[in-house]
Amino acid sequence: GFLSLEGIDGSGKTGIVRALVEHLRDQGLDGVTTREPGGTPQGEAIRSLILSGADDVWDPHSELLLMTAARVEHVRRVILPALRSGQFVVSDRYVGSTIAYQGAGRGMSERLIRNLHASVVGDVWPDLTIVLDLDPEIGLQRSRRRLSDEVIDEGRFETLDLAFHRRIRQSFLDQAADARHRHIVVDASGPLDEVRARVMSAFDAWALA
Ligand code: ATP
Ligand code: C5P
Ligand code: MG
Repeated sequence: GFLSLEGIDGSGKTGIVRALVEHLRDQGLDGVTTREPGGTPQGEAIRSLILSGADDVWDPHSELLLMTAARVEHVRRVILPALRSGQFVVSDRYVGSTIAYQGAGRGMSERLIRNLHASVVGDVWPDLTIVLDLDPEIGLQRSRRRLSDEVIDEGRFETLDLAFHRRIRQSFLDQAADARHRHIVVDASGPLDEVRARVMSAFDAWALA
């Protein structure tokens, strides 16, 4: 099975990805976590290219191509081999984030993003995407104490206004409402143990069906 976690910055994805893999292990399933942009040495190099500068360093077209290039490496080198060996793959973001950030956020057309994905990645979509839905004002507060300890240029956050993050949130909700791929929207507000319990029961219900 291929699972992706999506949601705005600070919605809790990285913590939930870890908890989900432990949850899988408790059920005797072998799961690997991975992330986008990243997941391979090539993808991590692209990630630092994109994230170490201010948010206007790349034209949105270049940013889309870089994100997609990272995904090609990720899918071919990590995701497909793991799925073929029978492992569960749990990815912290996937193409849904590209539709949200480079699409709704930075104005690239969703059609271009989907066509590019189909052409260079192929028809590789998660079996289930869990969207952690949260008000961006809360997400941005949480982001300041995010779980990953890497340095992301502060300019990237400060220059991105709330309207940008609201478009990102709405894009995830729109993608979830689109019947092409299975999504579950989980309320990511409230205490962490409650959010975690909501995600695990949503996953269990999906896995049983
Ligand atoms: P980013 O998009 O910035 O990578 P993320 O979606 O991966 O963020 P996390 O890094 O998992 O989010 O969480 C962001 C911060 O908020 C962390 O410090 C985490 O401990 C905290 N956090 C996560 N969920 C909750 C919650 N339900 N209530 C309070 N704090 C939370
Ligand atoms: O989720 P993660 O912390 O790995 O994301 C790092 C940064 O990359 C975040 O600030 C996020 O907004 C940004 N990002 C992006 N476009 C994507 C995926 C992530 O701008 N497609
Ligand atoms: Mg994270």
